Amino acid sequence: MDNTISGGCFCGKVRFSIQGTPIRQRACWCRDCQYLASGNASINIAFRSQDVSVEGELSHYESLADSGNRMRRSFCPNCGTHLFSGQVAFPDYVVVRAGTLDDREIAAPQSIIWMDSKPSWGWADPDIPHHPRHVPAVPPPVQD
Ligand SMILES: [Zn+2]
Ligand SMILES: [Zn+2]
Repeated sequence: MDNTISGGCFCGKVRFSIQGTPIRQRACWCRDCQYLASGNASINIAFRSQDVSVEGELSHYESLADSGNRMRRSFCPNCGTHLFSGQVAFPDYVVVRAGTLDDREIAAPQSIIWMDSKPSWGWADPDIPHHPRHVPAVPPPVQD
């Protein structure tokens, strides 16, 4: 049976496939994610980088996150879709943006981080754990 997870950007120039199981999946309301997710929380699934193979060109943007971690975010230079992020200090892990998955049904968040920066109208599933700020997923140390 083929357990490959696949996805890509809006325009189709970047495609990826993943041979592995998610490390964890969650929603992030940090201020940075609101820029990238059209005002909403980002929905993210973390994998081991070695499990993810990418076809097509990516552009990258590095910034300092509210958590204090230096983040590297990767997007399609043609259509601007954000596909991946990860901590510069921990390249062994990659966070995949759920909107890029061919099957988004697998991406249901298991917790929500950065509730402190969520606007009052933002929706947060009351049935999963809420965290006011960043929570390192230990192990491994992955961030959205
Ligand atoms: Zn694209
Ligand atoms: Zn975030």
